[in-house]
Amino acid sequence: MKKVALVTGSSRGIGAATAEVLAENGWSVCINYIERADKAEALAAELRGKGCEVMTCRCDVAEADSVKKMTAEIEKTLGPVTLLVNNAGIAKQQQFQDITPGTWKRIFDVNVNGCFNCTQAVLGNMLHEHDGCIVNISSIWGSHGASCEAAYSATKHAIIGLTRSLAAELAPTGIRVNCVAPGVIDTDMVKVLGQETLDMLAKEVIPLGRLGKPEEIAEAVLFLANSRYTTGHVLGVDGGFII
Ligand code: NDP
Repeated sequence: MKKVALVTGSSRGIGAATAEVLAENGWSVCINYIERADKAEALAAELRGKGCEVMTCRCDVAEADSVKKMTAEIEKTLGPVTLLVNNAGIAKQQQFQDITPGTWKRIFDVNVNGCFNCTQAVLGNMLHEHDGCIVNISSIWGSHGASCEAAYSATKHAIIGLTRSLAAELAPTGIRVNCVAPGVIDTDMVKVLGQETLDMLAKEVIPLGRLGKPEEIAEAVLFLANSRYTTGHVLGVDGGFII
């Protein structure tokens, strides 16, 4: 089957690096974004320049109907999705008492319901083909707690639960479901922590002594996409943060 990947949230950061690595390794890739069309189009142009087949699609993964339209468009343009990378995610650092119901809901809508919407939208074809691969992006905070990250951490725990349960359910069909749990990766998402905190984390907390690079998460996604006897696995890529 033609290798077609949907990487959600791939205009920037980990998703962009993943789209690039997959495209360079023979996948036709849909670059999804919500706001930064400029970034998505620039990445698409760069990859097309290298001879890769890519498309871009604006879609809020929290909106089930938009996700269905996106996957239909991908099918028409590239073919049915055979690899789904559920990467789109948002975070907000605040004390639990300050989280509004709206913020709590939006973080769950994007991080968890986004995975649900995208997975349901691509699963029909995968089930038909008895083949396919899903890689979810969780976090070190998907297995450990973090102060001022209750909503984010709860969604990332949910993603690990979803990964393991779906892997068990889908294994007899040949569809594999795995997860990457990144540590602190140098993207826009962690810039809000401030350079001083990031330097402190690198020097004093992360055993490998530095932040991770987006392409190091992309390589883990590529490994799981190719590792045909691996399912239900949570691969930590965190410089030893969680040992
Ligand atoms: P960034 O904030 O750098 O990028 C987020 C990406 O997601 C952008 O492409 C953004 O699009 C897109 N996006 C946001 N909301 C939506 C939405 N509702 N629908 C579609 N796309 C959306 O994040 P990172 O690259 O750092 O993080 C990627 C994933 O990795 C997230 O799930 C995050 O939780 C996880 N992670 C990150 C870590 C880190 O240290 N950076 C650590 C552990 C996990 P646009 O450009 O249009 O805004």
